[in-house]
Amino acid sequence: MITRNTGSACAALLLAATTFSSFAAETDFDAVQITAQKVAGNVHMLQGNGGNIGVSLGADGVLMIDDQFAPLSDKIKAAIRQLGGEAPKFLLNTHWHGDHSGGNENFADTATIIAHENVRVRIADPANGRVPAALPVITYADGISIHFNGEEIRLIHLPHGHTDGDTAVWFTDSNVIHMGDEYVVGGFPFLDLDSGGSAQGLIENHTQLLALLPDDIRIIPGHGPLSNKAEMTAWINSVRDSAKIITDQMAAGKSLPDILAQGLPEQYDSMGTGFINEAAYITAVYTSSSTP
Ligand SMILES: [Zn+2]
Repeated sequence: MITRNTGSACAALLLAATTFSSFAAETDFDAVQITAQKVAGNVHMLQGNGGNIGVSLGADGVLMIDDQFAPLSDKIKAAIRQLGGEAPKFLLNTHWHGDHSGGNENFADTATIIAHENVRVRIADPANGRVPAALPVITYADGISIHFNGEEIRLIHLPHGHTDGDTAVWFTDSNVIHMGDEYVVGGFPFLDLDSGGSAQGLIENHTQLLALLPDDIRIIPGHGPLSNKAEMTAWINSVRDSAKIITDQMAAGKSLPDILAQGLPEQYDSMGTGFINEAAYITAVYTSSSTP
């Protein structure tokens, strides 16, 4: 159902642990370089291979969000030291996918891992082959706040969008939010239906969150370059409009093969060139909209 396009920046949205393992085996992690950029206030963004990493650095120490793949942990630690930071005290997972939580166990000696309760359930699933040290130690249902480096860092659960365990992490003074894979720049969203994701959930999450966020907030997406509220608003509007085209056809009695054959209007072509192509997106919207 999901087609993987290996050249894409989002290629690592790899869901099933089996796929995760085979991807990890194929990737030349030795060649990956970790780059860092200041976002605003206490917050920096690290990029390498996998989901974007957020780092809060200040008088209280280091808190990090997501950790890409296990073979990259030493390089990520070195990049944090380069910024002047020590070993992380807290590690937050925006969700369970291996390109965001794959290095958990390598940070667990110093960092308390915090995530939504469904993240713990999924990482603990024996089918995913993770070690106990990879598990979040503190979990929550709706959200939690961490008071660190002079600001409230607000974790907000985003139910049933990308998965059923996504969290947005809002640095309220630095004026930055890390969206995890609830927002990826440019392409169609990956709706991981096997992990409780859905199109309508993703759209509803954005509607509620956008109403809370200041207009000038800086946004770290799950994948892709730093972004802002105007870009994220335009993106979710495209998702909402394209999903409506699909659900309108469903309401008119069209089958999935009919809708796939019809396709989406040309204006959405550029969204289908990355990790999630148009057929995968249509299928995911169709499937998640047919099950209440
Ligand atoms: Zn993901």
